[in-house]
Formats: sequence, structure tokens, C-alpha cells
Amino acid sequence: MDDKFSYQTITCKSALNKINSFLPYHYDLNIYRGCEHCCVYCFAKYSHKYLEDNQFFNHIYIKENIVEELEKKLSSKSWKRDVINLGGITDSYQPIEKEKKLMPKILRLLIKYKTPAIISTKSSLILRDIDLLKELSDVAGVQIACTITTLDQNLASILEPNASSIKLRMKTIQTLKEAGLTVGWHLMPIIPYITATRNNLKNIFEIASKCQIDYMITGLLNLRGTTKTDFFHFLKQTFPDKYEAIWNLYHNKERMKEYKVQLYQLLNSLEKEYHINRNYQKYVPQKKEKKQLELF
Ligand code: SF4
Repeated sequence: MDDKFSYQTITCKSALNKINSFLPYHYDLNIYRGCEHCCVYCFAKYSHKYLEDNQFFNHIYIKENIVEELEKKLSSKSWKRDVINLGGITDSYQPIEKEKKLMPKILRLLIKYKTPAIISTKSSLILRDIDLLKELSDVAGVQIACTITTLDQNLASILEPNASSIKLRMKTIQTLKEAGLTVGWHLMPIIPYITATRNNLKNIFEIASKCQIDYMITGLLNLRGTTKTDFFHFLKQTFPDKYEAIWNLYHNKERMKEYKVQLYQLLNSLEKEYHINRNYQKYVPQKKEKKQLELF
């Protein structure tokens, strides 16, 4: 445990969150509330509001009964083995997971109940569970994505201070790929004038292509609520020379529209040049039908 952070155990009423979305999955599971990775653009801070707590990065809640609750759900007759998104709000492999070791228990349950999953992370800790991930991939399917928004370690240390180093995240992608798993690259959020440089994006596409990733998801920085206020405060302190341009962009719809067009033209041309697939949907694991499951 790190002294900068405080930890508190809580109980959850249900392990899964049902989400009604346009996404190809409808269940989310988050072991932790709060995230030690401390990304300056974190979109999930709102999730601490329910707890009347504004210490999203420092005050981490651990759902101590999540494994038991998940087993109740997966063992029920009504469970249809739908795909579960692990860590849609907070990173399941943030540092505290090294000690808590809840993910291996969750993965064992998914294997036992042949339930497919999606996992996204900024941590190389996921490699600890590689044997379980391979087993899950065989019996039900798993899609794993690693987020890398810049190859510049100095910049990454400013933007995502407690995530694994870029070198370790690259090694994670390579190791997971070599293990035969389905691996994606989350190139998001792309930050205008900071990570949205042609050089950075081109280098990322080039390396992603060499790693033979299965797909890449790209997305421009989305700023709302607390994230927006905190992000502009951060810019003022850390990138004062970029502050005005980014402020103007996010406060002028027309300018933003033009910016998006140019950015997506660039991303589309890089997609073609490096033969990167940006359609992740075909890699989302589908639940296996009963007949298929009998084979395992
Ligand atoms: S890893 Fe995700 S949840 Fe954690 S701080 Fe970064 S953006 Fe927020």
C-alpha cells in the first residue's frame, strides 16, 4: 500500500452494473472505486460523487464482497453468459490490485461460468494473470486493450503519473499478443496540441502495426464537468503555452468541428498507411452457445 493513498473496504449489493448503451456489452464490473493512476484527463471522477467524496485519486474503495456477489450472479439460472466489461470506470489493475489479488478470483469465476470479458488497462500487472487470461480466452473469449496515448515517457509521466511506464505497457501488449490473445490499443484520449501531433500519432500507428495489434480505438479528449475544470487548471500550471489554444477550441463549436475533421483525416490516412483496424466490434467476444460449450 502507498502512503499517498487511503483505502477503505465497502460492500456492494451487486457485482455487475447493467448498462443500457449503444456499446456491444451491457454489463460493467468495477472492483475499485477511485483510481491510483491519477490521469489528468480522467473522465471517471464523477463516480465518487455518489460517495460524497472528491478524492477520486487518493481515496480508494475496495469492494470486498465482489467475488461472492459475482458468483451469485453467474451461478443463477437467469445468467446468459453475456460479455462483461471489467474496469469500464476504474482500472482493475491499479497498484492496490497487486496486494488485493481480486482479479485472479474474478477471472477464475468467468472461466468456471464460461463468461466472456473485455478488459482495458494501463498497467503491466495484468501479465501476472496471463495463464488465467489464456484459459478464459479458450473457454469463453476475452478481449484486452492497453491504453497508450504517447510514446514520450516524460509526457506520459505528467499525464498518467501512476500508470505503468510506456516501456512496460509496450511489453504488456507484446507479451499478450505472443500468448495468442486478442489485444487492442486504446489511443485515447488524444489531447489537442499536446499528444495530437502528427509525429506522435504516426509513431504510435507505426509501433502498433509492428506489434500486430488486433484493433485500435482512437478518441479525442472529451471534457465535461469536474474533468473540464480540473484539466484547464492543470493546463494553466503545466502547459501555459497551450492553455489558450485548447481553451478556445473547447469553447468554440465551429472551431472544434473543423479540428475534428482534420484530426480524423489524419487518423484515417494513418490507418490506411499502417493497415491498422479501427473496428473493435468484431473482436468483442460473443457468448458461446450451449453446443459450443460442450466441447470444453
Ligand atoms: S486509468 Fe482510467 S480510471 Fe484510472 S485515473 Fe486513468 S483515466 Fe481515470
